[in-house]
Amino acid sequence: MAVSPFSRSVVRVGVEVETRAPTGQTTAHLVGTGRGETLLVDPADRSDSLDTAVDEHGVEHVAVTHHHPDHVGAVAAYAERTGATVWARTGRAGPFQSATGVAPDREFQPGQRLPGTEIPVVDTPGHTPEHVAFVTGDGWLTGDLAVAEGSVVVGAPEGDMRAYLSSLRRVHASNPTRLLPAHGPVIDDPRAVCERLLRHRRHRERRVLAAVRDGHERPDAIVRAAYDKNVSEVFGLARATVIAHVEKLAVEGRLAWDGERAQ
Ligand SMILES: [Zn+2]
Repeated sequence: MAVSPFSRSVVRVGVEVETRAPTGQTTAHLVGTGRGETLLVDPADRSDSLDTAVDEHGVEHVAVTHHHPDHVGAVAAYAERTGATVWARTGRAGPFQSATGVAPDREFQPGQRLPGTEIPVVDTPGHTPEHVAFVTGDGWLTGDLAVAEGSVVVGAPEGDMRAYLSSLRRVHASNPTRLLPAHGPVIDDPRAVCERLLRHRRHRERRVLAAVRDGHERPDAIVRAAYDKNVSEVFGLARATVIAHVEKLAVEGRLAWDGERAQ
């Protein structure tokens, strides 16, 4: 797919939301579709400022980068307020409806433009299986693929580490000028951030593999061996992350994993 974005008009609106993201906010984006219409991406919740932006620009299309609650909370509300076409990734209509409470009107195919718009959709799974990015002239709307500082959760069972690393490499290769993440500030150096996130995962993977080779078999023990810092406050997330690494290493034949023990 030739990624030639048309829109030059992206509006970012921060929405307070219950989220693991340290910002406490999800950024909703309003994007010109190149045909005089507007796409709303990741309306996490109703807010006065998002109401104002939606009313000011009008919204003809609603889509999400992925189905997590801190991205979809107001899909139903804004679909009803605007009468917009609600989009889901092809093959994911059921989970989309479960997450949003709305049956999608239409489905889009990653690797193509959102039908009826000039907006390319890029497949970026890993954080979740259905995760996508939307390409605009102001940058790529990358949801929870990347953050300017820190890292995003890629945890079993829904997170897929191999897919996540491929998605980072795909974005790196495409070399967009900016990333517009759903949490935190705009990323003006996408390649550097992708490289940092890839390095971070490689480092953790080495630690996980070393822990298994040292005889730690169960995820809890691997967590204790693979993290220097105290992760007791976020032990569940660390454990899910470790299992995602173990699953990747098992697929690659670098260890054996039966769902409970790694060797
Ligand atoms: Zn998420």
